[in-house]
Amino acid sequence: MIIVMKPNAPETAVKSVQEAVESKGLETHLSQGKQVTIIGIVGDKNKICNENLQLMPYVDKLVPITESYKLTNKKFHPEPTRVKVGNHVIGPDTLTVMAGPCAVETEDQLMLIAKEVKKAGAQFVRGGAYKPRTSPYSFQGLEEEGLKYMAEAKKEYGLNTICEVINEAAIEASAKYVDMLQIGARNMQNFHLLKEAGKSGMPVLLKRGLAATIDEWLNAAEYIISEGNPNVVLCERGIRTYETATRNTLDLSAVCVVKEKSHLPIIVDPSHATGVYSYVSPLAKASVACGADGLMIEVHNDPEHALSDGPQSLRFSTFNTLMQEMADYIRLAGRTL
Ligand code: PEP
Ligand code: MN
Repeated sequence: MIIVMKPNAPETAVKSVQEAVESKGLETHLSQGKQVTIIGIVGDKNKICNENLQLMPYVDKLVPITESYKLTNKKFHPEPTRVKVGNHVIGPDTLTVMAGPCAVETEDQLMLIAKEVKKAGAQFVRGGAYKPRTSPYSFQGLEEEGLKYMAEAKKEYGLNTICEVINEAAIEASAKYVDMLQIGARNMQNFHLLKEAGKSGMPVLLKRGLAATIDEWLNAAEYIISEGNPNVVLCERGIRTYETATRNTLDLSAVCVVKEKSHLPIIVDPSHATGVYSYVSPLAKASVACGADGLMIEVHNDPEHALSDGPQSLRFSTFNTLMQEMADYIRLAGRTL
């Protein structure tokens, strides 16, 4: 449930309502908009008396929230959330571009790719150090050594860094070297991992599960935020359908749905969504046009010899062209890089 306060309710009135709710053992979350203040309530609502709350000074109305996710819900927090990562803010004013290899392969490879994506305008370098591969015989990542190269790329090129984490040890190691944690599609409902990422306090990029509904995805985000970590960004990366022409089916409507239901930023990953490099640029532009807050794009210096996801990786020249062609889309969306 949320309590909507009357416009310009004084701080003391808001505080009194919060205290009345908290005295019954429930949690309150404040969202202060330009006009109205909203008090979100989490917990067993049977413990409070709606009639009494309704009578308190400056209370406008009590609105039940039927969705199971609360802290993620736009009704709880009508203003779009801005997530600060390193020297950058992910949110409605910017177009965030995270680019880099699927996996960190060598120091030279990562440094070269970081240099090129920076030059093209990306604000983040991405690269997996822990790779959750479909086959146990595929390259599994350099682990901590890979994280060290990410830290080096940050230092050398001033890029923000993001790496996928697959367990608690990876979270602990990543916290030492990178700016943002990624929870991959395969772990979207690994609730223990979600809670640990929440406890880390680090910004988290939460990818949509392989066959997850938007509702399940927002509930997964709720696990992170309910640990006291509001710094969550969502990433649409395609879902399983009957179509086989692409690796997954990019669900761009998810961007519109998420914007309506949640205050969290959402970015799109057209690389994993399609699995085909030639589809990445048009879908990146479409993502910006339909309101996405950013993009995650795989870029490789030598896609033919990439240790993973070569077929969907852009060469430097293609990525650079895409970044130039996207400038108009970014401007029309009212954003800046
Ligand atoms: C990735 O971004 O490296 C990745 C494995 O993506 P996903 O979890 O979306 O498959
Ligand atoms: Mn990949």
